[in-house]
Amino acid sequence: MIHSLQCETELASRYKGPTQIARVVTENWCAENLYCVACSANSLEQFSPNTKAFDFRCRNCFETYQVKGQRHLNLNRIADGAYSVLLAAVQQNVAPNLLVMNYSEQWRVHNLILVPSVFFTESVLEKRNPLSPTARRAGWIGCNILLCNVPPDGRIPLVSNDEILPAHTVREKYSKYTKLASVAWNIRGWTVDVLRLARKIGAEEFSLHQVYKWEAELIKLHPHNWNIRAKIRQQLQVLRDLKIIEFLGHGRYRFVSKLGD
Ligand SMILES: [Zn+2]
Repeated sequence: MIHSLQCETELASRYKGPTQIARVVTENWCAENLYCVACSANSLEQFSPNTKAFDFRCRNCFETYQVKGQRHLNLNRIADGAYSVLLAAVQQNVAPNLLVMNYSEQWRVHNLILVPSVFFTESVLEKRNPLSPTARRAGWIGCNILLCNVPPDGRIPLVSNDEILPAHTVREKYSKYTKLASVAWNIRGWTVDVLRLARKIGAEEFSLHQVYKWEAELIKLHPHNWNIRAKIRQQLQVLRDLKIIEFLGHGRYRFVSKLGD
């Protein structure tokens, strides 16, 4: 992975306006540095050069990626395209992985965070209000990706505060969660929510009662479910079957991997 500040600054100086500069920096940086996290391919191809999105694809395994640039890193919420399109893609396990790219004032790529698409669930996709009748695309419904509802496991840094992480580390982290795709869409939302809340406890080992403390938050996310505690227990079993946690007995659990691993 090459990280050329000189190249980015020189490119940026040739273009006027932050949107155009951001586009050029993003495209060039990605062309030179991006690699596939799902296989050993060391480059990606851009497959929609004429659209607003920065979409990349692996020629080897066909994994897809969408890059979103940010001047100020916001890992709470990020606007995406049409709600129905993304929802259908997520349900069929063909949605692109998200790469959130954050630039410094000098247009240097400061942070780059991968959010694997298996983490896009009903708690993460937020349906926006339809555009007003006077808008050019009246009635169109967009969506936001609520990154705040993605567990820390689903935010994998490729670049962190200017430091580039080794590709093998990124690929290893990514591979730990691809098995989430085997969980049906209507259950995976719960799995990801329970994983996020168990991580929120902040310890490698935790108890069932500590997870129960987040019951109110789960009721807000799933208002039609009346048996939250049974659902928590069921999802802890799903996380165990996926080898993300292990059961220690007597209502105690442990994460198989520490977050930093
Ligand atoms: Zn690949």
